[in-house]
Amino acid sequence: MKQKKELFISEGTRKVVKEELAKMKKAVTVIVVLSEEQNKPFNEFCRKLLTELSALSDKIKPVFDAPGSAAAKKYGVTRTPTLLVEPERYAIRFTGAPAGEEARTFLLAVLMASAGTTGLSEQSRQRLSELKESRNIKVFVSPTCPYCPQQALLAVCAAIEMEDLISTEIIEIHENKDLAKQYNAFSVPQAFINDSLVGLGLQPEEVFIEEILTAAPVTTKAYEGTGSTEMDLVVVGAGPAGLTAAIYAERSGMKTVVIEKGNIGGQVAITPVVENYPGFTRIGGKTLMDMMAQQAIQYTEIHEGEEVVDIERKDDLFTIRTSRASYTAKALLLTTGAQSRKLGVPGEQEFQGKGVSYCASCDGYFFKDGKKVIVVGGGNTAATEALYLKNIGVDVTIVHRRDRLRAELFLQESLTEQHIPILWNAELKEIRGEKFVTGVVLENVADKTTSTLPVDGVFVAIGYVPSNELAAKLGVATDDEGYIMVDKGHRTNVKGVYAAGDITGGFKQIVTAVGQGSLAAATIFEDIAHPYWKIGTVAS
Ligand code: NAP
Repeated sequence: MKQKKELFISEGTRKVVKEELAKMKKAVTVIVVLSEEQNKPFNEFCRKLLTELSALSDKIKPVFDAPGSAAAKKYGVTRTPTLLVEPERYAIRFTGAPAGEEARTFLLAVLMASAGTTGLSEQSRQRLSELKESRNIKVFVSPTCPYCPQQALLAVCAAIEMEDLISTEIIEIHENKDLAKQYNAFSVPQAFINDSLVGLGLQPEEVFIEEILTAAPVTTKAYEGTGSTEMDLVVVGAGPAGLTAAIYAERSGMKTVVIEKGNIGGQVAITPVVENYPGFTRIGGKTLMDMMAQQAIQYTEIHEGEEVVDIERKDDLFTIRTSRASYTAKALLLTTGAQSRKLGVPGEQEFQGKGVSYCASCDGYFFKDGKKVIVVGGGNTAATEALYLKNIGVDVTIVHRRDRLRAELFLQESLTEQHIPILWNAELKEIRGEKFVTGVVLENVADKTTSTLPVDGVFVAIGYVPSNELAAKLGVATDDEGYIMVDKGHRTNVKGVYAAGDITGGFKQIVTAVGQGSLAAATIFEDIAHPYWKIGTVAS
């Protein structure tokens, strides 16, 4: 019997990729510099990936070369695998295999190189056209980092928009540890322009474009919004609550837009594994959020990397100015979630990105060859992150300040099964290092004795603090911990402003956020039709 040939790209993915590649206008040459000796699995990955992609579309033209080849010399390629996208025209380089999350970045780079256009906003393209000097952009990424593709894509877009002045290199940190060390890049994404660090983490488009212009870090940047888009509802935040609310709102007939300053998915997108969302026994947090977003965009627009900079209210209408546009809306739903709590100990800020991390799925990859790390915390996040780190081959220990974990029993049992050690009654007092983290100082809470523990990394998982800056600007009432207070219908104390999800505190689960989002949308629909604040004052 004839054996079925094993496919490198799965059947389902192959179908979607083929449809996308069918849209290619011009053929794109990809020079793939491979070695038989070093980095074998990654080189093999690239050979298979490009071979199968070129079988799906005759517009993808891979050219396989060896390190000493004429092409490698011409483009100064010394590492393998390296992929150059349409190198005769653009300077777009992937140093390391574009695996995991980065496979999408690579495909989009090919599609954009074929079209010769990008998805950057008109204002960003205008601003980039003012660039007069050359820029080299380096973005350090890992295959499991959900924030990386968006940052990497911005860099690729810039290289396509300004092909004569901008070169972009996407560097996978695990395969290129020496480069990561050279640039002190122990967390991802990290962006460098002309070899100077400009951004730790994902940055909004406007900010990154400004950094390209100035070759220096920029904290905020907003374009003048042209005109104003009339909406019924503006949802701020594209986590589970925001996406669900948008689905329900649009389905009930409200014109809705979701504005997200980071990337879709909120905290769930960086949760390695979700095991308690009904319908899915076990699913990656990023995958679950991609699925929710996929469903939401059937109904609504989701604007990633767009930041709300100002909100005004006049009569019954809000004017919401963002980093790139202006909207009016009858109602505003805050689903801004929460951000990682900091320990506030010496060394934490200094070594952030140099061994201190708040996201195991982003940065764990770097420590996967048995490097020693601690996870600080005793809740569900600490347990989930420790299990993920152990699973990818990191030598992980949990450090907890009490003698009992807060995490659910199922996760505690998994920690035991996986033989993950726990240091009880230990408080982290200091993070030490030179260029990178080398160790921590721990205090035994019982007898107050201190000890040092040599480690390569510290993952902080001690809960979240609410992202309530917008709420504060609007005069929305919060509780003692800063969470927004809402009534049963998710109304805040400010008429027309609603809140749902983690920003309202309480039981922080995906399933809760989803339920709250749907309920908030239903309330908003009712209130717009029959404003509760007008009942009894306006004759109908
Ligand atoms: P959490 O449940 O608030 O737990 C925080 C942990 O960090 C606690 O163990 C706490 O210690 C410790 N901690 C707090 N401040 C500290 C400090 N300054 N120094 C040392 N330790 C400190 O936070 P989380 O685990 O991030 O979870 C947040 C929410 O998301 C929770 O509602 C959680 O259930 C949910 N979540 C759920 C899942 C899941 O269902 N699988 C996964 C992730 C998150 P004490 O115990 O001594 O207070």
